[in-house]
Amino acid sequence: MSQLHPKYVLILLVLASLYLAASGGQETEEGSAKPVRNDLFPIDPKSYLLGQFRPDTTGDFVRLPGKLTRGRAYLRSEAAEALERMVLAARDAGIHLTVISATRTFRQQRVIWNGKFTGSRRSGGRNLAREYPDSTERCRAILQYSSAPGTSRHHWGTDVDFNSTDPAYWRIGSGVAALHWLDHNAHEYGFFMAYPPDREHGYRYEPWHWSYQSLAGVLLRDYYDHVVSDEDLDGFLGARHFRRLPWREWYVNGVSKALK
Ligand SMILES: [Zn+2]
Repeated sequence: MSQLHPKYVLILLVLASLYLAASGGQETEEGSAKPVRNDLFPIDPKSYLLGQFRPDTTGDFVRLPGKLTRGRAYLRSEAAEALERMVLAARDAGIHLTVISATRTFRQQRVIWNGKFTGSRRSGGRNLAREYPDSTERCRAILQYSSAPGTSRHHWGTDVDFNSTDPAYWRIGSGVAALHWLDHNAHEYGFFMAYPPDREHGYRYEPWHWSYQSLAGVLLRDYYDHVVSDEDLDGFLGARHFRRLPWREWYVNGVSKALK
């Protein structure tokens, strides 16, 4: 090998120092992720945000009393207290709100997702496995109303579904009255509709899904994107097809502006 002219050695040294400076800058940026707040995370942040825990045995999760839900449902304690105040205030106004789903784990979300992926579970009465033989298209169809395991806000113990997940319920009678009350009052208790109609991408309009902002807002804004990576989203049917979709931008971050 011929010897390098000193001029080229100098150029190489400059390039190397520029590269080091650039990668050093990146490190600083990654290091700027917010420090972990213990009051926000009852367990390690990744397991928590991915729903890899049991709410019945995890600190700060409480079981909702029977007057708020018919089944067994858990929320973070602060969200549960605010929820109870809201539901009782609604009841005083003649509006009935029942929690039909609260915290869901990764495993529970996987049962929903895999069921829709194989067609054993209907989605709005439809068999998506039959309608969408292409796996990526099928993921998109499931994502109209269901999250992939690891990306659901229901993992966080801050979000609830009220009364019915049938869009038709919210268009007539008591559904309209409940929605009207929530639209005008929920914010006073810290709750906001996660998926309102005025979004460009992501899940369809979900009038039933409400989120406790003071916890969920911080989790999304300061932590989720730093903590959860593509590789964490695995272990469910069609995962590699799902990961090629803009899942982070369209679905995880495709929420109401009030929750960002
Ligand atoms: Zn929901």
